[in-house]
Amino acid sequence: MGSGKGKRYSGTTGAKAGTGPHARTMHSKVNNWAKDKASELEKKSKRQRDKFNTAAVVYDESTQKYYYGMNRGIQLDNANKNPILFGDDHTKGILPEKSLNNYSVGNCAEVHAINKALNDGAKLKDLHITTIHTESKSMGNPKEACENCTYAFKKKIKHNNTGWHKKEKHK
Ligand SMILES: [Zn+2]
Repeated sequence: MGSGKGKRYSGTTGAKAGTGPHARTMHSKVNNWAKDKASELEKKSKRQRDKFNTAAVVYDESTQKYYYGMNRGIQLDNANKNPILFGDDHTKGILPEKSLNNYSVGNCAEVHAINKALNDGAKLKDLHITTIHTESKSMGNPKEACENCTYAFKKKIKHNNTGWHKKEKHK
């Protein structure tokens, strides 16, 4: 699979990293980021650590920058909500208005990472994403996008290395 950057990294199996030209590098990066984040949270409290279950990395192919996100990250960072995602007084954002699952809209690690990229001037069409589980027992395993993220980002970003939700309702 892939070429160039993807091939230089050999510490992860392709299956675990997902598929895409940058999948292995991205998987390695988000894995390291998530392990650091997990031990940082562990020092604060076990409860905080246990709530951390998903991490995502976004790669902007036009600038070669990486952006990281975690579940509840928008809330925890009190992040500036980018209008492309969340809308503003004049326009609707691309996130669904009502959640399509049990998570509140904007809770996801993917949204946290993409929100950072957009606030930094990135364009959706240049973005690649990898999402992983971060529970202790499944740290680093690929995680497919949920219904809300699939609705918002499929066909808008360039590539999702770890896959879209399969039962997506097509409109
Ligand atoms: Zn999601």
